[in-house]
Amino acid sequence: MALTSGDPPLTQQASSPAFANRHIGIAAPADQQVMLDTLGYDTLDALVDTAVPASIRSSKALDLPPALTEEDSLAELRRLASMNVVKTQLIGQGFYGTHTPPVIRRNVLESPSWYTAYTPYQPEISQGRLEALLNFQTMVSDLTALPIANASMLDESSATAEAVLLMRRANKAAADAKTVLDSNLFPQTIKVVQGRAQALGFEVEIADLSQGLPEGPISGIVLQQPGNNGAVVDHTATIREAKDRGAMVTVVADLLALTLIVPPGEQGADVAVGNTQRFGVPLFFGGPHAAYLAVRAGLERSLPGRLVGVSKDQEGRTAYRLALQTREQHIRREKATSNICTAQALLAITASMYAVYHGPDGLEAIAKRTHAHAQNFAAALAAAGISVASETYFDTVWASVPGRAKAIVADAAAAGFNLRLVDADTVGVSFDETTTAETVEGVARVFGAELSAVDPIDSLAFPASVARTSEYLTHPIFNEIRSETQMMRYLRRLSDRDLALDRTMIPLGSCTMKLNSAAEMESISWPEFAGIHPYVPEEQSVGWRELIHRLEAWLIEITGYAGISLQPNAGSQGEYAGLLAIRGYHLANGDTERDVCLIPASAHGTNAASAVLAGMRVVVVKNTDEGAIDMADLDAKIEAHRDVLSAIMITYPSTYGVYDADVRDVCEKVHAAGGQVYIDGANMNALVGLAQPGEFGGDVSHLNLHKTFAIPHGGGGPGVGPVAVAEHLLPYLPGNPTTEGEITTGDGIPVAATVFGSAGVLPISYAYVAMMGAEGLTQASKTALLSANYIAARLREHFPVLFTGNEGLVAHECILDLRELTTKSGVTAEDVAKRLIDFGFHAPTLAFPVAGTLMVEPTESEDLGEIERFIEAMVTIRAEIDEVISGAYAVEESPLRNAPHPASVVVSDSWERPYSREQGAFPSERLRVDKYFPPVSRIDGAFGDRNLVCSCPPIEAFEE
Ligand SMILES: *Cc1c(COP(=O)(O)O)cnc(C)c1O
Repeated sequence: MALTSGDPPLTQQASSPAFANRHIGIAAPADQQVMLDTLGYDTLDALVDTAVPASIRSSKALDLPPALTEEDSLAELRRLASMNVVKTQLIGQGFYGTHTPPVIRRNVLESPSWYTAYTPYQPEISQGRLEALLNFQTMVSDLTALPIANASMLDESSATAEAVLLMRRANKAAADAKTVLDSNLFPQTIKVVQGRAQALGFEVEIADLSQGLPEGPISGIVLQQPGNNGAVVDHTATIREAKDRGAMVTVVADLLALTLIVPPGEQGADVAVGNTQRFGVPLFFGGPHAAYLAVRAGLERSLPGRLVGVSKDQEGRTAYRLALQTREQHIRREKATSNICTAQALLAITASMYAVYHGPDGLEAIAKRTHAHAQNFAAALAAAGISVASETYFDTVWASVPGRAKAIVADAAAAGFNLRLVDADTVGVSFDETTTAETVEGVARVFGAELSAVDPIDSLAFPASVARTSEYLTHPIFNEIRSETQMMRYLRRLSDRDLALDRTMIPLGSCTMKLNSAAEMESISWPEFAGIHPYVPEEQSVGWRELIHRLEAWLIEITGYAGISLQPNAGSQGEYAGLLAIRGYHLANGDTERDVCLIPASAHGTNAASAVLAGMRVVVVKNTDEGAIDMADLDAKIEAHRDVLSAIMITYPSTYGVYDADVRDVCEKVHAAGGQVYIDGANMNALVGLAQPGEFGGDVSHLNLHKTFAIPHGGGGPGVGPVAVAEHLLPYLPGNPTTEGEITTGDGIPVAATVFGSAGVLPISYAYVAMMGAEGLTQASKTALLSANYIAARLREHFPVLFTGNEGLVAHECILDLRELTTKSGVTAEDVAKRLIDFGFHAPTLAFPVAGTLMVEPTESEDLGEIERFIEAMVTIRAEIDEVISGAYAVEESPLRNAPHPASVVVSDSWERPYSREQGAFPSERLRVDKYFPPVSRIDGAFGDRNLVCSCPPIEAFEE
C-alpha cells in the first residue's frame, strides 16, 4: 500500500501488514488526500518540505534495520529474553522478589485503561486513578506514621536526594550546615545524594551515626531502616540528638519491614523515603518502581512531586484532584520544590492495589514469613559457626566468611541463587515474599550449614523497643477487598471513571499521547525480562544488555549524537543529567564561573527547575510575538553574561509548536560565547527521520521515550528520559551508581539507583523502533505534521491558531487562542477543556505554554474519523460560545461553565438551567451510542488546598 505518491511502499518480508500501517492512523491514501486537499498540497512531502526548514533537514535516510512484523519482533524479543538467566534473587540492596497478584498484573499493569491514561491534571476524568493514588498515599502514610505522602517519587536513591534538599529548604540552619548520611545506607543512595550535593555545592559527610553525630552545624541527617547490612536499629537516641542539635531527620525505610518495626514517624523523624517495589512490582532489571516520600505536618509546602488531595465538586460531592500545585515545576519553574514531572504513577497504583488486596493482616503475614526465613537461615549459620554482621535484622543477613565470599557467591549462583557479594569476606542474603523453605535450605547448604528448623517462628530478631505496636491500613478500602471477584470489579470500577487512550484521543500538546501497541507492551512482563535483579552478574543479563545496546545505537542514529545514557527515569532527570554533563565539561576546561543557563520564556517548567538542581542560575530570554526566540534579547542576554554563560536550553520544535528557522543561528551565537546548547527533545515526534538535533547545533538533548517512543504514560509515569550527547560530553554521561560493576555509559554523576534506570519498559521502545523501521518512523513524523496542520486549518476560522511558521504551517501541534473569545464572552479555555469531557474527549494541554490557550497534538496514531469527531466537538463548542456572546444565556448559566455534566446532574429532579438536559449531556448525535459520564462535576481545586486532606477520607464523606 503506497502511503504517498512520493514514498515507496512499506514492504515487509512476512505476510502480515506492515506494523507502521497499524500504528499510523492515516495510512489510507484516500484519507491522506482529503487532508492534503484541505491544506492545498499535492503530496505529503510537499507539505513537509514547506513546514520543516531546509536548513535543518537531514540529507540522508535513517540507517536502521528493516522493519519487523509484530510476530518477528516478538520472536526476536523472545530470543533476547532467553539470553538472560533467571535465578532466585536474594541480592536485596533495595530490590526484592515479590509476587504480582495476577489479577493486578492483568487488570492494571497489562490493562490499557490504566497504562494509557495521562497524568491526572483534568481531575473530573481521572477520579479512578486519583483514588488509587490516594490509596497509595494512605498506605505510605500509615506505614511510616507520617501524615502526608506524595504520589510518587522516581526511585529510592533520588527520593533520598530530594529528602535531603527538602531538609535544606525547610531547616533554617546556617547555609554552611552539612548533611550527614549514616554509613549504613545503601551505596547507590550515598552516591546519588553525593552527586546532588556536588552539583549544588553543599557538604555531605558519611559517618557511623550509631557513634553519635559529628561536630559542626548540621542541616539534616539520613538513617536507613533496616540498614545496608540488614541491621534493625533503634534510632530513638540518634534522632533525639539530631533534634537537640537543630538538625532534621530522614529515615529511608522498607515498607514491608515497617509492618513489624516501629515506624519513623513514631520515632520523631521528619521525613521517610523508600521504594515500594516489593509490593507486587517486578524487579524489572532495576525499574520502573515507585518510590515514596512522606513528611510530618508543616512540611507539605516543601514537598517535591505530585500530591493527591481531597476536595469537592460543584454539588459538594467528595472529589479528588492534585493538591498544592503551586509547589510544582509547571507553575513555580526555577522556584519549584523539585523538577519532578513524570513520576511512577502506574507502579504506585500497582503497589497500592497490592496493599488493598492483601490488607494489613496479609502484609503482616508476608513480613513474618520473610522474617522467619531469615531467622532460620541465621540459626543455620550460627550452628555452622559462621558469624553475622548484625544480631538484629528483618530480612537480610550478612554472613562473615573471611576470604570465601567470592567462592560462595559463585557456588550459590551455580545452585540457582543470586547472593550479594559485599566484599571479599562478606556475603549478603535477603529473603522475600517468594522465598520457600527449600530456598533457605539450599542457600544454607552453599555455606556448609544445615537448616534445623523450617517452621514459622513468632519471635522477632530485633529488640522489643523497635517492635511495632500501632495499627496501620485501618481504612475500609484495605479491609474489604479479599476475593478476586471483588478485586477485579474494584479495578474495573475505578478505570471506568477515567478517560484513557483506550476510549478517546488524548490531544495533549507536548505530551505526544500516541499508540502504545500490544506487541510493544507484551514482553515487559516475561520473567526473563521482569525477573532480573539490577545487580546480577553481567553474564546473567546478556539479553538485556544486547537489547539496551541496540536501542542506544538506534537512538543515537535518530538524534545525530555520539552517545546516550538510558539511566534517567523521566524527562526531568534527563535534563538534570544533561546539564550536569555541561557543567562537568566546563569545570574540566577550567571554566568554573560558567553557571548561567538561558531559558526562553516559553520553556517547559522542568527546564528551569532542572537548571537550578544542576547548580545553575536561570536567565529568561524573551519570545517574540510570533513565538520565536527574540534574537535581540538573546544577543543582549549573551552579552550581559558572556563570561559566565554555561548553556541555553531550547525546545525544538519550540513549545509554541513551530519550527524556528533561526535555530542554527541561535546555537552558533551561544557557542561563539563559549556556551553549550541543550535541546529539549520532548518534541522529537516532529523530527524523527526529518532532522537531528545533534546535527543542527545541539550538544546535548534528552528524549522522552514515554512520548515519542511509545512507552505509555501510565497515568503519570513511568517514563524514560535518555540523555544523548556530542563527542566532547561523552565522559560526563551518568556513571555507575553502585560501587561494583564495570558497566557504565559515562563517568559522570549518577542520577538514579541503577545503571539503566527504568530498564523494564525499554522493550517497548525497542519494539517500536524495530517494527517501524526507518521509513515507518519517518512516515510517523510526517503524519503527525499532517494531522496537526489539518486540525489547525479546520479550526482556524473558529479559534485563531496562535503561532505559525513558514506559509502559516505549524509543526506537530498547534495552539488555539481563546483569549479574545474569553474577553468577549467570559468563556475560558478551562471551560472549553471541561466541555470537551461531555463529548467524551480528554482536553488538550491547558494554559501551557501560553495562559488562555489550548495546545492540540493529535499524533500520527489518530485516524481521520477520530480527528473529525474532535473537530466537530470544537466547532459545536464554538457555537455555544457564540450563544453566550449573543446573550442566549449568561456565561455562568451556560453549558460551558457548568461542564462537565455527570449523569446525576442531568437526570436530577430539579433542572433550572437555560439550556436543555439534552444539550448538557448529548451535545452531539453520536453520543447517543457511546456516552461517557464523568463521576463528578467541576471540581473546586482551591477548596481542597485550603482544607488539605491527602489520605483516604472516611466513608461518611461520600454520603450526600
Ligand atoms: C514532557 C516534557 C518534559 C518533562 O518530561 P518528564 O518526563 O515529564 O519529566 C520536558 N520538556 C518538555 C518540552 C516536555 O514536553
